[in-house]
Amino acid sequence: MTDPAQDLTTLVDAARADIRACATIEQLEQVRVHLLGKKGVITEQLKSLGAMDAETRKSAGARINEAKSSVAAALDARRAQLDAEQLAAQLAGDTLDVTLPGRGQSIGGLHPITRVRRRIEQIFRGAGFAIADGPEIEDDWHNFEALNIPANHPARAMHDTFYFPDGRLLRTHTSPVQIRVLQQQPPPVRVIVPGRVYRMDSDMTHTPMFHQVEGLVIDEGITFANLKAVLHGFMQELFEKEVKMRLRPSYFPFTEPSAEVDISCVACGGSGCRVCKTTGWLEVAGCGVVHPNVLRAVNVDPERYTGFAFGMGIDRLTMLRYNVGDIRMYFENDLRFLRQFA
Ligand SMILES: [Zn+2]
Repeated sequence: MTDPAQDLTTLVDAARADIRACATIEQLEQVRVHLLGKKGVITEQLKSLGAMDAETRKSAGARINEAKSSVAAALDARRAQLDAEQLAAQLAGDTLDVTLPGRGQSIGGLHPITRVRRRIEQIFRGAGFAIADGPEIEDDWHNFEALNIPANHPARAMHDTFYFPDGRLLRTHTSPVQIRVLQQQPPPVRVIVPGRVYRMDSDMTHTPMFHQVEGLVIDEGITFANLKAVLHGFMQELFEKEVKMRLRPSYFPFTEPSAEVDISCVACGGSGCRVCKTTGWLEVAGCGVVHPNVLRAVNVDPERYTGFAFGMGIDRLTMLRYNVGDIRMYFENDLRFLRQFA
């Protein structure tokens, strides 16, 4: 018959060896269950005590409990070791290299149309103009009637207007702000009105929403010569070069006389190219002397006051300034395109 004490020593030695051999927490847990679980080998030893007489049980119980404590201590020690190893491995894998360069944040830029609008505002502010604005949803009177475009006037056909069911409309030009300014402020008036306008139109050079800048000067003794000087000075400032300017007779209901404004081509200098369709000239604005009917509509005496008005497409000026052929590029929000202007 074998000595039970010798058996227990062998069992504990074997258990220690098993515990040392465990490479993972999972393996250690399996060994723990094998030794101390409900049906573990040491647990079975404790169960065998019941079959012993009182004297044997006392000494055997002490030995078995000692073995159990010893095994449990070995399990705890190995567990602590494995936990430390796992943490060390995790920390090594998570190493943060603080010397790496940051990802960086790209800084946004102003839209090219905004840049040109601000430049236009800056130039006119320098010439003593104030900046005015008005609603984009207008009524018929401000957008047409007061500007000498009564109902059934053929000029209305040139404005492909978006109407609301109640008869109001999306303004087709910035000119209604002329009326609003003159309603609020007696002459002298010197303002520009940059803003969005809307017409049902879409192709290479037209979008349903586009940007205009309106200019209005009303005072005593204002003539066409003043108009020409202001516009010519402005064009040279905007394009930062010498440009020639010419006025061609035209027709607008709200000015008389009226003219189209051409400047020498900013791409070729006037020798003829793709941008100016080989003419050497670019049409950039419409203008004229404010019609007496417009002044009368806002109770300004046309015998005493005269003035001029002009309108330009900001999108068109932006296309010319940056040599972009398709206006729709400005509204597609393609960052590859927009980044070039930042
Ligand atoms: Zn040209």
